[in-house]
Amino acid sequence: MPIPTEPVGSLPRPIKLQDAMRAFDKGEITLEQLEVERDEACLDSIKRMEATGQELNTDGEQRWSSFATYPLSDTLGGSGLAQNLAVDGGIFANFPDGHQRQLFRLKSGPFRYKNYASDAFNKAKKMACGCLKQAVIAPSMLTLLYPLDGEVEGYTREQFYNDLVDECEKDIRQSFSAGAKRVSIDFTEGRLACRNDPANPWTGRNMLEEFVKLNNRVIDRFSAEERVNIGVHTCPGGDCDTQHSLDVPYSKLLPSMFKMNAGYFLIQLASEDDKESIYKLIGEHSRADANGVPQVCFIGVINPQNPRVETPQEVCDDLVLASQYIPKERLGSTDDCGFSPFSWDLKPKHGSPDAARDIAFEKIKARIDGTKLASEKLEI
Ligand SMILES: [Zn+2]
Repeated sequence: MPIPTEPVGSLPRPIKLQDAMRAFDKGEITLEQLEVERDEACLDSIKRMEATGQELNTDGEQRWSSFATYPLSDTLGGSGLAQNLAVDGGIFANFPDGHQRQLFRLKSGPFRYKNYASDAFNKAKKMACGCLKQAVIAPSMLTLLYPLDGEVEGYTREQFYNDLVDECEKDIRQSFSAGAKRVSIDFTEGRLACRNDPANPWTGRNMLEEFVKLNNRVIDRFSAEERVNIGVHTCPGGDCDTQHSLDVPYSKLLPSMFKMNAGYFLIQLASEDDKESIYKLIGEHSRADANGVPQVCFIGVINPQNPRVETPQEVCDDLVLASQYIPKERLGSTDDCGFSPFSWDLKPKHGSPDAARDIAFEKIKARIDGTKLASEKLEI
């Protein structure tokens, strides 16, 4: 079997769609009008992704407010926010260019998703010729909706976690039932949890182990056969062409991350300076048997934050080097992150979101071609 390759999930939203989302927030257009723009962007994303020769595609998350807020709100501006949430949550991440992303805040229980990933998947599958995967948000990310200190009145943190685990399991099961071949769980908060940023209170609380345990409460509800197709994505963030936790050494994250009993991992790597040392860490800490499944390690070979298109030869060289440390039968390739996890993203280094879309498809094609080259070279 050739080396498997898989995208993370998102693509930049066309500027026309971003404008429509803002107009919707201002009440200038209706949800039906916004839906027309979403449909157009999803169809274009799926068709162009399929044209790269990639076997497992997505709708580019064009319908979503973001990778983390899709279950909670229709837009990042808070239109259609779930009733028991408020827009004034804490900071999620501080980025080096000075911009921030903020969280919603839980006001009362019980916690329920407003939208599930399968809602978008069911629309996407009507537009696709081939197979689709689905990304979902990790329960660990959504723990940050609960106040860091104190308690939500009448709803303990424990009650919240119980509801969260149920909802996340449902999100994954519904994605598979709708026809997703694979489901990957976005876990960007894992690396950020090790950052200890004085200007971002939640990062200084050693939450990584708690995150891993909570995510395993969801993952362990699935059989080994199901977990083969359940992945975890790690990255140092990817928003407005910058990253929130690239300065955190992987040695702080990986030993804990591979304790999650997922069947595969999508791991940012292309934007790292010293890739070889990280391949080595992955080889040391990933498990050949995670309660019945081998952990397949998809290494990032494409940097979505940089407009330069990698060559297939560069992709091939990364995989060949990685194969010295990661067993060939547990090696795959991916992009470092989604190309735009948040819906409002002007992709400044690319000039515009529309230019960034064109570049994203070229990059995906380079990953597909380079992974084929590596499979030939490694005789897989
Ligand atoms: Zn990511």
